[in-house]
Amino acid sequence: MRSLKDIIYLDASSTCPPHEKVIREVLKIERNHWANPSSLHALGIQALDILERSRNLIAKSFNVLPEQVLITSGATESSNLALQGYAGSLSPGRLIISSVEHPSIQSVANSLKKNGWTTQHWPVDNQGLIDIDLLDELLSPPTKLVSLIWGQNEIGTLQPINIIANECKKRKIFFHTDATQVISQGLFDFSQLEISALSASAHKFRGPKGIGFLLLDKQYLELISPIQGGGGQEYGLRSGTQSVSLAHGMAIALQQISFHIDIINNQMKFPFTKTSSLTSTLLSHLLNIKGISLTGHPENRLPNLISLIVCSKNNIPISGRMLVRELSNYGIFVSSGSACSSLKNNSSSVLEAIKIDKKLIQSGLRISLGTWLTDLDYDYITNTISKSIEKIALT
Ligand code: PMP
Repeated sequence: MRSLKDIIYLDASSTCPPHEKVIREVLKIERNHWANPSSLHALGIQALDILERSRNLIAKSFNVLPEQVLITSGATESSNLALQGYAGSLSPGRLIISSVEHPSIQSVANSLKKNGWTTQHWPVDNQGLIDIDLLDELLSPPTKLVSLIWGQNEIGTLQPINIIANECKKRKIFFHTDATQVISQGLFDFSQLEISALSASAHKFRGPKGIGFLLLDKQYLELISPIQGGGGQEYGLRSGTQSVSLAHGMAIALQQISFHIDIINNQMKFPFTKTSSLTSTLLSHLLNIKGISLTGHPENRLPNLISLIVCSKNNIPISGRMLVRELSNYGIFVSSGSACSSLKNNSSSVLEAIKIDKKLIQSGLRISLGTWLTDLDYDYITNTISKSIEKIALT
């Protein structure tokens, strides 16, 4: 694989290159502290100490207690554990999810259906924002669980999760959010939010793959049941030997995030960073290309994500998948929609939910930036995208 310096990697929302420091630290732990953290001997105790120090660092990053942090294999598992684990302690009711959730949430809805739960989708407008006018109707009985994606991974739209969390709290409804794409944009004070559970994956913020966390509100610590049996690790809620090195790498990656998302007058204020500045300049260059338009919300969006519908200058819809392959020949690495669906089929339920014309549904392109980028050759990127579009239009 080519060095990061020699390529233009713009696919942060799929995964990020781990920080050099993360790589070094993970290797160090694998070499020196590979013992099982549940072993009673001295080696095990040392490994446990590193694991618990990592948990403490994660807890500090979000101003929660260490016992509110469960270490999992990633956001998919965290979301399954939160929603299925809490549903397991209730009689069946209704689950509300938005119509732009990640497949991991949709699959929980399918599993809960087998246990007598119903699911209702919270519709979104054509910029991907949930329809707030439906709040009273959707948060009435029999609703017991709500899960909304904070920052949408394909179109970038940010949901007003703090408002929904407050409303759920008033109504004693469990509120889960998938924050996988948000953490890289800044840390925040979880204790200021009325969120019951929050999922994340380390590889989206330059940590290792295969590790993530679930943050739980204190009130729910005793109310979640495990969804897999075994050795009872992670306070009995997530069995399986923990990876000390990956948990440590995740904590190190969080420590590299030096900016914060603030909550001011009920508004989430995302910090303006080097990455968001590069993203907005790149977007303004790209929107000068005839045939390209932005999807998702124009302002209320992940500051590092550009989501586009791409047509040629003569208005021919361009296959996002073909464009991704063509651009990679020129050292530019982007994505057509989300990585989770791009291997499976050409369609996108997210673009359908925001009512993108059927003819354009395969013309999505996602460009997402991260902190490894210190500068961008805007002309090279814009010219290469423009030329590639016209080349594909001729095929
Ligand atoms: N939620 C969102 C919003 C995501 O973007 C992803 C990863 N594409 C996931 C959940 C799942 O993350 P993981 O595969 O690391 O479990």
